Amino acid sequence: MARYTGPVCKLCRREGDKLFLKGERCASSKCAFERRETPPGQHGRNRRFKRSEYGVQLREKQKIKRIYGLQEKQFRNFYERAVRQKGITGQQLLMLLESRLDNIIYRMGLAPSRLAARMLVRHRHVEVNDRIVDIPSYILAPGDKIRIREKSRKMGSVHDAMKRVKEGKLVPYVQLDKALMEGVFVNFPTREAIPIRAQEQMVVELYSK
Ligand code: SF4
Repeated sequence: MARYTGPVCKLCRREGDKLFLKGERCASSKCAFERRETPPGQHGRNRRFKRSEYGVQLREKQKIKRIYGLQEKQFRNFYERAVRQKGITGQQLLMLLESRLDNIIYRMGLAPSRLAARMLVRHRHVEVNDRIVDIPSYILAPGDKIRIREKSRKMGSVHDAMKRVKEGKLVPYVQLDKALMEGVFVNFPTREAIPIRAQEQMVVELYSK
């Protein structure tokens, strides 16, 4: 599946917000957005214009898509799935995206970023309910147990990520046993519990045009 391979900090500057795409660096003074918030490009600094309604909706959609590291087609598929579910479509969309295996590994702190979490899954280092799952977009069900495979637990990157985890600061829909490098996806998250600053209803407005 195709993925974006360009400079990721540029994406934060484009969306005017920190998207936390680079792991540890995002929390440090090296964060490119902290140093320069203006949009990328030659005229980014001088650009002052009022966005159209369409422009605002488009930017919100791009922002959410980029936070989860998806391409348009993949994102659209999640949207179509959210439409078919009961409830508020925008919130269902975020709930589905949050329930992806790569995202939950990132939320548990087993990887410093969603991209790193995706690599762990792709390279078959992760088990769900004692079986290897190598599909990053796998949607977890409440009660699913996620762990790093026993033979992969010595990996330096996982240990480094674990050292940085503050268990009290995890999102309420995951539990983690740091010593065992395993956790549980407790339940589907509510909108209030998802720590993302985005207006998901704008995605619905955009795609409904
Ligand atoms: Fe965005 Fe992280 Fe880069 Fe900062 S360091 S600009 S939050 S990806």
